Amino acid sequence: MKYDVVVVGSNMMELTTDVDRMPQLGETVAAPSFHTAFGGKGANQAYAAAQLGSKVAMISVVGDDSFGRDYYEHFQQSGIDVSAVEVGHQANGVAPCFIQGNLNSIIVVQGANAELTPAMVDQHRDLLAKAKLIVLQQEISLATDYRVIEIANEFGVPALLNPAPANDEINYDYVRRVQFYAPNETELGRLTHLPVATLDEIKVAAHQLVADGVQNMIVTLGARGVLWVNATTELLIPAETVSAVDSIGAGDAFVGAFAHYYTAGSDIPTSLQQANHYAALTVTKPGSQTSYPRADEM
Ligand code: AMP
Repeated sequence: MKYDVVVVGSNMMELTTDVDRMPQLGETVAAPSFHTAFGGKGANQAYAAAQLGSKVAMISVVGDDSFGRDYYEHFQQSGIDVSAVEVGHQANGVAPCFIQGNLNSIIVVQGANAELTPAMVDQHRDLLAKAKLIVLQQEISLATDYRVIEIANEFGVPALLNPAPANDEINYDYVRRVQFYAPNETELGRLTHLPVATLDEIKVAAHQLVADGVQNMIVTLGARGVLWVNATTELLIPAETVSAVDSIGAGDAFVGAFAHYYTAGSDIPTSLQQANHYAALTVTKPGSQTSYPRADEM
């Protein structure tokens, strides 16, 4: 059995509380509302590709608790293959998030995602060999990402690395070995230590990484769209004008949609254009996965 997209990465239960004000240390306050949602960068990307109709498998670790069981079921209900989703020995990854007006404070607890080790990846190397594209982010350890890149290269499967959250200790020997390196503009700044306030500065930073051997830079630019740079190309695709509600999870929607269209046979510029359209739709609705439409809803 072949897969279009295999995502190796995190899953997190988002625990969102709307607050009138944040408590001081040692204080208790009442808050008006609370809800949970399925998140985590890896799972979001897998979900977006599955919503669009890709055959998706996830390599991930859920917690040995009710959140973990809910997430496992959610993967199954979303049509994501769970043969390489394992149940860990600790609590599921969670992201308690406190929203006060237009400000938010977020805590990320990696939980069982820490159990997604290089050794676990080795156990699922056959699954990686069956992918048309492997998708990676950085809510798991860099050592695990490196192992996946080694296996991807061994089998000749292209990989996309979304360096989020950015870690400037990343080893570029591995980054050069993925087909697509896809930071957002802020992450690009952290990775290169270059200014990224203007489009010209972003282009300079992206070209520097290409000069350093990165194959394809895909830089998402929020309301400005997306920039693709490689040794022979520089293409800016402007964002679509939409009535934005929030851009939570838009970057993950972009990556998942790009993976879908690229593995469905579109060339790189067409896949970028289609992912740009999909991501724009997701900013018109609140939340991450809750804002990702299916192909028939677009
Ligand atoms: P970001 O991670 O914020 O760079 O956003 C990822 C992608 O989502 C962008 O490359 C756009 O395709 C899309 N996007 C984000 N914000 C907006 C917006 N305000 N309007 C239209 N598209 C957006």
